[in-house]
Amino acid sequence: MILYVLLFFLGASVGSFLNVCIYRLPKGISVVFPPSFCPNCKKSLRWYDLVPVVSYAVLRGRCRYCGWRIPARYPLIELFSGLWAVFSVYNYGLSLTALESFVFFCFVVVVSFIDMDSMVVMDRVVFLGSGVGVLFHLVLNGFSLGPLMWYLAGLGIAWGIIGLIRIVSRGGMGDGDSYIALMVASFLDFKLTVLMLFLSFVVGGIVGVLLLLMKRKGRKDALPFGPFLGVGGMLAYLCGNFIIRWYVNFFSL
Ligand SMILES: [Zn+2]
Repeated sequence: MILYVLLFFLGASVGSFLNVCIYRLPKGISVVFPPSFCPNCKKSLRWYDLVPVVSYAVLRGRCRYCGWRIPARYPLIELFSGLWAVFSVYNYGLSLTALESFVFFCFVVVVSFIDMDSMVVMDRVVFLGSGVGVLFHLVLNGFSLGPLMWYLAGLGIAWGIIGLIRIVSRGGMGDGDSYIALMVASFLDFKLTVLMLFLSFVVGGIVGVLLLLMKRKGRKDALPFGPFLGVGGMLAYLCGNFIIRWYVNFFSL
C-alpha cells in the first residue's frame, strides 16, 4: 500500500514536469531553467507550491501571489500521471515493462497536449518518443524475426493509414499526425496498433459530432487529430487485450 502511495506521488511529480514540458517546449524555453513560475505573474514558485495535486487543492486553484486561476488541467495531468504510475506497477510489477508503460504515457500526454494547444506537432519530441518506443520493444521482446515482422507491420500500418487519409482528405490531417501515429504504435504490438487506430477514429468521430452539435466548431474548422491517437493508444494500452478477447468471444459464439 505504502508503495502505491509513493508511486502515485512519484508519478504525479513527473506529471508536474509534463505540464512544464507542454507549456515550454513549443515556446522554445528550456524545461529545466528557470525553475517553475506562475505563467501570469512570472513569480517563481516555492517547493510548497509544487506538491502535485495537493498544492492545487490547498491554494483552491489560485496562484498564491497574484490569484490567477490555475487551469484545472494542471492538477488533472498530475492526477492521471500518478494513477498511470500505479496502474503500470500494479499490472506489470516493478519491471522494465512497467517503466515502458509509464514512459509511453509521458510521451503521449506531452505530444497530445502540445498538438491540442497549438496544432503544432513537435517532430523532435515525436521522433525521440518513437526511438524510445522501438528501443523498449527490442529490449523487452528480443530480435526474433516473426514477432519483429508483425511489429514493423504495425508501425507501417499506423504511419500508412494516417498518411493515406491525409492524401485522400487533402489536408484534413497533417504530416505530424502520421508521425504521432508512428510514435504511439512504437509502444504497441500489431493487434493493439490496429485497435488504437480504430479507437482513435471512434473517439475522434464522437467528439467531432458533439462539437458540431454544441456549435463549438463549424464544419470547416480543423480539429487536431494527434490527441485522438493519444487517447486511442491509452485505451488500447489500458484495456486493449480485454476488448480483443471480448470481440473474439462475441464472434465465436
Ligand atoms: Zn501568479
